[in-house]
This record gives sequence, structure tokens and C-alpha cells, in this order.
Amino acid sequence: MPLRETAPKLSPEQYEQNFADITPPMNPRQAAVEASRCLYCFDAPCTQACPTRIDVPGFIKRIMTGNTRGAARVILDANILGESCGRVCPTEVLCEGACVMHEKGEKAIEIGRLQRFAVDHVLDRKIRLFSPGSPNERRVACIGSGPASLACAAELARKGYGVIVFDRAELPGGLSTYGIAAYKTRVSDSLREVEMVKSLGVEFRQGLEIGRDMSFAQLERDFDAVFIGVGLGETWAMDIPGENLEGVCGALEFIEQTKMRPFSEVILGRRIACVGAGNTAIDVVTAARRLGAETVYLVYRRSEQEMPAFRYEYELAKKDGVNFLWQTQPVRVLGAGGVVTGLECVRTRLGAPDARGKRAPEPISASEFSIEVDMLVRAVGQKPATDFLRAVSGIERRKNGTLVTSALHQTGNAKYFAGGDCVNGGREVVDAVAEGMAAARGIDAWLGAPAGARRGEN
Ligand SMILES: Cc1cc2nc3c(=O)[nH]c(=O)nc-3n(C[C@H](O)[C@H](O)[C@H](O)COP(=O)(O)OP(=O)(O)OC[C@H]3O[C@@H](n4cnc5c(N)ncnc54)[C@H](O)[C@@H]3O)c2cc1C
Ligand code: SF4
Repeated sequence: MPLRETAPKLSPEQYEQNFADITPPMNPRQAAVEASRCLYCFDAPCTQACPTRIDVPGFIKRIMTGNTRGAARVILDANILGESCGRVCPTEVLCEGACVMHEKGEKAIEIGRLQRFAVDHVLDRKIRLFSPGSPNERRVACIGSGPASLACAAELARKGYGVIVFDRAELPGGLSTYGIAAYKTRVSDSLREVEMVKSLGVEFRQGLEIGRDMSFAQLERDFDAVFIGVGLGETWAMDIPGENLEGVCGALEFIEQTKMRPFSEVILGRRIACVGAGNTAIDVVTAARRLGAETVYLVYRRSEQEMPAFRYEYELAKKDGVNFLWQTQPVRVLGAGGVVTGLECVRTRLGAPDARGKRAPEPISASEFSIEVDMLVRAVGQKPATDFLRAVSGIERRKNGTLVTSALHQTGNAKYFAGGDCVNGGREVVDAVAEGMAAARGIDAWLGAPAGARRGEN
């Protein structure tokens, strides 16, 4: 992608420092001290706040008594992607947000870091806690290898199912591999989690797109049930003039580069604007600053109060020196010689809150202004990508393209189950895991819970 001006390169040490873990790992002493602060609440609001219902006091107590392996077993039994979740979960609004320590005016227990401490302990040592269940002769296909499918596949494999995961991408792991910010989790973290799922006997076929490289008829012939965990698709367009200029890209495309290339090879403008104010937009602007972009704008048509990003993510971007343009709506991408040179915007005023409490932005006439940029990143949400499922009878889609499922996570076609972003419209890894595991239980119930289903433990 040619750009008018690119950002200066940083030293290798500077890149490593900028992309170091934002939540560094604990050592055994720190973990024991932190674990000893827990009150082991009987009703454990932290557990209630976790979509996968990890027994938080249960695993923290094991850490305190030096049984780190036992702690990891508690976590991974409830959430096979406990490693990812320990790194990327918005704990501030989930388990740690619910911790009773807040009521006492004290700092919440650092549940995320403790979880990471326990899971890293077993993954670093290649300790296998679970094994495949006794084979029950049933076969399930999972479409997609993101968190939803990984969780579904692991749960089914532990119940004795033969599971094959199909993904069109080169590497497995979905957005955990390709999309989540490098300062939260690295590709290698995601891939070792995939290895754990493989160790349960799950097979992976990468670079294979269902609906294109393999027909639904073949899937239905070869498998007893199918789990759909295809996530969402590309970033929405902004539908403004100039959007096709070189230097304009989608948020996923930009973030994927930061995960797949050496930091020094990421295509990066000297001045960048990102449109949108969700967590993805924050990841873009934070990464851009950490990669060395000199001026980074976040452009949002509503106000700071309406910003959908989590507060702590916003604080991160503020600390990194991002410029926030509130109540600002892009109207045209400016260019010269086919490449981006600026963004024309208009100021907005906000109307009364609608039913969802959102205030509609209205452009203020004669308030146009331009900013000079070399790159523009769209972070205005991802399109659902479920069109290819039209070929399957009975699968119902909502108006916005997400899939309709029952309490068992079954679609209108009884053989197909679904979960994760393609159903919930885009939430967090932990939600995808919870839905994938619940779908596995749904599949097991629908297939009559074939006998031999001893859940694989080591
Ligand atoms: C930029 C960004 C940052 C994020 N940061 C966080 C974070 O910090 N913390 C957090 O908890 N969550 C975060 N999320 C959300 C989280 O990544 C998702 O909720 C989660 O990955 C959803 O999992 P999934 O399995 O439903 O889908 P995905 O992870 O999207 O996986 C879907 C997979 O399906 C494959 N696929 C699609 N169609 C086909 C087909 N026809 N055939 C074969 N394969 C197919 C795709 O290649 C992909 O690998 C972030 C999301 C984004 C976009
Ligand atoms: S709410 Fe806090 S103190 Fe209570 S069990 Fe959970 S982590 Fe421990």
C-alpha cells in the first residue's frame, strides 16, 4: 500500500518495549501473596460475572496452597481457552469488576493475572491435564477455528467425539491469532492453545473454506453434526468519497499486519486517523502510536460519554498520546496522485437519546475542517459473513446477518449448531468460548449423549 509519508522506524528494542505485555506475568511469590488476599466468598460474584463460570475462589485457593496444576485444571475444565482469557478478557468489567473488594474500598483481586499464572504453569511445562474421551463413533465438523469452535471442539473431543475443524485461514485460532492486539497476546500464545486442543485428538484442516472448497452436502454426509463458528467478516465501509484511495484500510487488515509481520515492516503512515470509537478503534490507535506514528487521531461522531470502548482501553490510548476528535464526522477522504493526504470532517451536534440511550449526531452546517493524514483506518464494526449459509435450508438469519439459535445453540436446521461472534454480533473471547462449550453440550444432547462419554481427564 503506497503512502504519501511513512512513520519513522524504531529500534528493535523500542518495538519490543512498546509491545511488551500490558499485564505482565506474576512470579510464584507475587501469585501467592495476591491469592492470600482473596476472601473465598461463598457466593463468589466473580464466578457469576464470568460467562464460562470459572470457579474463581476454587482456583485461587489452589494457588495459595501451592497447587498450581490443580488451579489450572479448575480453570481449563470450565474454559479451555483460559490462557487467552487470562490475557485478553476485559476483567475490569467481568470478574474483577464484580469482586467484593471494591465494596471494602480495596483493589480487586487480580483474577486475570492469577489465571494466567496458573495456566502458563501447565502450558510452559507441556503438562497435559485432559485426554480424549472414549470414542463414541460420532463425528462433528466445526467451521472456523476461532475461540468458539476451539471450545466446542475441545469439549466434544473430551466426550469421545471425532472432531475436525475447518478454517479458510492459513493459521488456526481466528481473531485470537490474527486480531487481538499484540501487547495483549502474541500469535504464539494463541497457537499453543490450539496445540492443547489438538492434543485431545481434534484435527485441523486450514486453508479450506466451507461452501467453496467443500460443499455442505459433503459435510452433511461425513458428519453427524456441524458447528458454525465463523465469526464476523470484513470491516464496514464508511460510504464517503475517496474511500478507495491508497492508504485507506479496514481495522482488521491493519491489526493483522501487526500480528503477522515484524513490527518494523508494518505499513504505517506518519499521520493516521482512525474512524470509530469501539475497542477495535482503540487497538488501532494504540498500536499505531506504539509502532511510531507521529500523530494519531481517533475520529468519532458522538461525544466521549457515548464512546463504546471500555474505559480502561480508552485510558490506554490517552496515555499513548492519541488525539481524540469528538463529535466529528468524516465526510470525504482527500487525496493526491491516488493516495490519501487528508480527511475532511464536519462537527456534529447530538440530538435527544433514542430507545438505546444513544444520541443521534447531526452535522453542523459550515463547520467543515480538514486534518492532514497519510493513512486512514476504518474501525466502524465488522459485517456479518453468513451469506454463504443461504445454501443450507432452515438456517435463520437476523436482519443484521447474525444467526438465530435455540437455547441448545441449534439453528433452524437441526444438524447445524452455532455460537460466537456470528451469533452474538461480536463480543469477547470469553463469550465465544461459553457459547462454543454450550453448543457442544447441545450437540451431545441432540445426538443422545452417546455412551462411553467419560470426560477425558489425565
Ligand atoms: C480487533 C479486535 C480486537 C479484539 N480484542 C479483544 C480483546 O482484547 N479481548 C477479547 O476478549 N475479545 C477481543 N475481540 C473479540 C474476539 O476476538 C472475538 O469475540 C472472538 O474471536 C470471536 O470468536 P469466534 O470463534 O466467534 O470468531 P473468530 O475468532 O472470528 O473466528 C472465526 C474463524 O472462522 C473462519 N471462517 C469464516 N468463514 C469460514 C468458512 N466459510 N470456512 C472456513 N472457515 C471460515 C475464519 O477464518 C476465522 O478463523 C477483539 C476483536 C477484534 C476484531
Ligand atoms: S469476589 Fe473477590 S474476594 Fe470474593 S472470591 Fe471472588 S476474587 Fe475472591
